[in-house]
Amino acid sequence: MLDKPQTKNMLDVPVAQRMPREIASGVFWIGDCLAQRHKGKVYHGYNAAFLVAGDDASILVETGHPKDFPVIERHLGELFARGVAPLKYLFVTHQETPHCGGLGRILKTFPDVILCGDVSDYHLAFPQYEHRMHWMKEGDEIDVGGRALTAVEPVIRDLRTTWWGFDTGERVLFPGDGFAYSHYHEDGHCGLVAEEAVSLDLPDVSSTFADLALFWTKFVDMDAYCDRLDELIERLDVKIIAPTHGLPITDVKSTVPKVQEGLKAAALMPESGTNEKATLPSAATDGMCSL
Ligand SMILES: [Zn+2]
Ligand SMILES: [Zn+2]
Repeated sequence: MLDKPQTKNMLDVPVAQRMPREIASGVFWIGDCLAQRHKGKVYHGYNAAFLVAGDDASILVETGHPKDFPVIERHLGELFARGVAPLKYLFVTHQETPHCGGLGRILKTFPDVILCGDVSDYHLAFPQYEHRMHWMKEGDEIDVGGRALTAVEPVIRDLRTTWWGFDTGERVLFPGDGFAYSHYHEDGHCGLVAEEAVSLDLPDVSSTFADLALFWTKFVDMDAYCDRLDELIERLDVKIIAPTHGLPITDVKSTVPKVQEGLKAAALMPESGTNEKATLPSAATDGMCSL
């Protein structure tokens, strides 16, 4: 039997013990932080993965950054030891390294796993696994017993091949690069949901991420994209948002507008360029939480 969803005050739990974290019944947040330096500040972000456990099988959503594979593998092992249904599917939102960088190792470690999503190009890197790749388009479902993962419209994306995922069981949206923002390691935000990270300036960190990683947002009407996000959230009746880079959102109504405020602000700023290439004596590794 699985543990009950965590109801204890996560602020009282040491950072290293916060993950795997059950953010909704049978939906587990796993992975680790990545520290990046920008304008003299160290920004902590996630390249998270999520395990969605059904009655018969589990789906891994995203794989984490390649550096995170030992952590992801350890977290998966802990969950399967607790009785989570065996891993049968891997759904990745798109072909970028922080989202699918562990794909080959997942397919090798779990020989029954089927890769699902827009599977363009993966066969070029992994021809030996081509027979385990399953195309999905909008509305297609993966049934794992008692719940399903559906491919839904990717409103905010940076590759044409992106799909977002949606868990029909707990109404959790997996938006890949949507709702992308960093958190403050110094304030103990690692492993917290957005609403617990009370000192986090969500409009600011959301606009910084959009500025650095989603340059196209400067050339479109972000009001229209934010309206589309609202429509999707309402149509699916989304209860929780589980972004790959941001902290999970458990109060959609109050938190989503703060992220949208950041997206709209970034759209009005000139592009400031990519991450600084400063020499980092220790920041690149010190910031990792090794969750
Ligand atoms: Zn990304
Ligand atoms: Zn962190």
